[in-house]
Amino acid sequence: MPVVIEADTGDAPVRAIFSTREGGVSTGGHASLNLGSASGDRPDAVRANREALARAAGFDPVRAVVLAQVHGAAVVTVGPDGGAGTFTGSLEGVAECDAAVTRSPGVALLAMGADCPVISMWSDDGAVVAAVHAGWRGIVEGVIAAGVEATGARPATLHAAVGPHVGPCCYPVDEGLRKVMARAHGADVVSGDAVDLGLACRRALEQEGLAPERIHVQDACTACAQARFFSYRRDGAATGRQAAVVWIEDGT
Ligand SMILES: [Zn+2]
Repeated sequence: MPVVIEADTGDAPVRAIFSTREGGVSTGGHASLNLGSASGDRPDAVRANREALARAAGFDPVRAVVLAQVHGAAVVTVGPDGGAGTFTGSLEGVAECDAAVTRSPGVALLAMGADCPVISMWSDDGAVVAAVHAGWRGIVEGVIAAGVEATGARPATLHAAVGPHVGPCCYPVDEGLRKVMARAHGADVVSGDAVDLGLACRRALEQEGLAPERIHVQDACTACAQARFFSYRRDGAATGRQAAVVWIEDGT
């Protein structure tokens, strides 16, 4: 049974969850709830994991959408057909983008990561949701601003949940990136030789007009919590992917 972390969406008719690595069928470095198709896992295992997650969490796997992430700032808007079977069929996702937005109830959006923050956003009224993959490159290129803008909602009406990601305890980066991050998001996103990606996401969301109390950042470090999360920094390329999943509840 897939183990997930549920974000508090209050009264909004929206669900937002974060998957963990627990409760799937993959083995080795992909053990066990790997949702990604691009890191060498067996396609039948990825398919089984995705179907199990959809069943456990209660979203429609046929219309679910995976972003084909490229560490950029492009956003796609997804219609009522969603991924049209790609989630468990071709496993190919929808388009090369790092953020997706939908206004269609029942269409689940998945952003995947193995250290990178993945972000779910939704409006008070549940009219629109967004999923964003916000690695350092995407953050620098403005993927968070692009995602907020693509919702078409007033930023003051938006909520955001930032998923488990590599913490500053495990994320030393070169001086150039530290400078870029500090300039863009404040000196305190840098501590020692490390960058706090979760705090950088929070700052970027605040800069777009989201209220601080509407932004929730998971503080678990993917690299420290080996039993719970996949981590590229810890395990290298042949590791799995966890996801942020967000969807508007289908009232029918
Ligand atoms: Zn850590």
